[in-house]
Formats: sequence, structure tokens, C-alpha cells
Amino acid sequence: MLNYKFIIPNSSFIIFTPRPLNMTWNKLLQPDLILEGSILTLTPDIIQQYQIEGLVLDVDETLVPMKSTEASAALRLWVEQTRLVVQHLWLVSNNLSDTRIGGIARSLDLPYILGAVKPSRRKLRQAVQAMNLPVEQVAMVGDRLFTDVLAGNRLGMFTILVEPIVDPGEAIRSYPVRSIEVLLSQVLGASIAPKSAKINKH
Ligand SMILES: [Mg+2]
Repeated sequence: MLNYKFIIPNSSFIIFTPRPLNMTWNKLLQPDLILEGSILTLTPDIIQQYQIEGLVLDVDETLVPMKSTEASAALRLWVEQTRLVVQHLWLVSNNLSDTRIGGIARSLDLPYILGAVKPSRRKLRQAVQAMNLPVEQVAMVGDRLFTDVLAGNRLGMFTILVEPIVDPGEAIRSYPVRSIEVLLSQVLGASIAPKSAKINKH
């Protein structure tokens, strides 16, 4: 029984104080670019400014609210405008539902990968290889630090953190998760401020 008391505090302490890992985590959790709005604020100007030729897009809460089965009119328009300035657009989701994620991808006429298990790099690498572009010219765009940004940075992609698109009823559930991630990333040494300061078009 006494051992129990020792084991629990010690193990949780170890998780949060891996000092030799601080620099690594700092880099891995730091997006290259943070947008103050949703993906709809990622304009052709910004994409060209950073010489991005390919985009890998998270789906849930990056493109659509969590349970949504349809792309909004605004998203369709964004995809059409974005196609004009990048060579490739892929959807890479941790979700396993071909009905829902596949349906959204097909409605947007975009290739997609399910069950990516981000922050694993494997499925992101598959998308980047299919694009046949240098990895640094491909941006990973997502709403989560510990899946999208971490996976993209691990692969050497350009990483863009966007504000989540959330159903009003889901906001209470969703935002604390993201807030905890931001807080934890700061504890681990990431500033969660853009590496390149706020976007200036000129
Ligand atoms: Mg997401």
C-alpha cells in the first residue's frame, strides 16, 4: 500500500519534468504559423507568401465541426480558391469513418486518408510522397497541437495551427481540450506564438 503512494506521484512527476526533452518538445509543438481564425482565413496570399505547394488538411474541427457530414458552402469556395495556388490538397484524418470523412472528401473532390493516428508520421508521409514535393513545401494544417502540429513537425513539414470550427453546442466540450494542449505545450517550452509574427501581406 505504501509503495502505491510512491509510484503514482513519481510517475506523474516524471512525465512533466523531462528536462533533456524540453528543447525537442519546444520545437515539435511550435507551429510555423498560427492563424487567429479558422482555415477559411488561410488565403492564397498567405500560401504563396510561404511558398507552400501542397496542403495536408486535418478534417474534424479544421474543415467541419466534429459530427458534420457535409462541407459548408464557405469551405467549398475556399477549396476552389486554394486549388488555384497549390499543386496538391489531401485530407488526412485520424477518424475511421469512410462514410463521413470519405463523403466530405468526395464532395470536395479531394484525395483522403483515414485512421492516420497522428501524431504518427506514417500517413502524412504517404500523402507527401504522393504529392512528389519537398516536405518543407507541404503544409500540415490542423486545429490540434498534439496531433496535427506534432505530426507535421516530426516529418519536417510547414505547420499551420488554425482555430477550430465547432458547433455551438460542442464548444464547451472542445475548447478545454485545446486550452489544455496549449498550456501543456507552454509547460514543455513552446511559446505558441507564431515563429513568423502576425501575417503581413506586404
Ligand atoms: Mg482536428
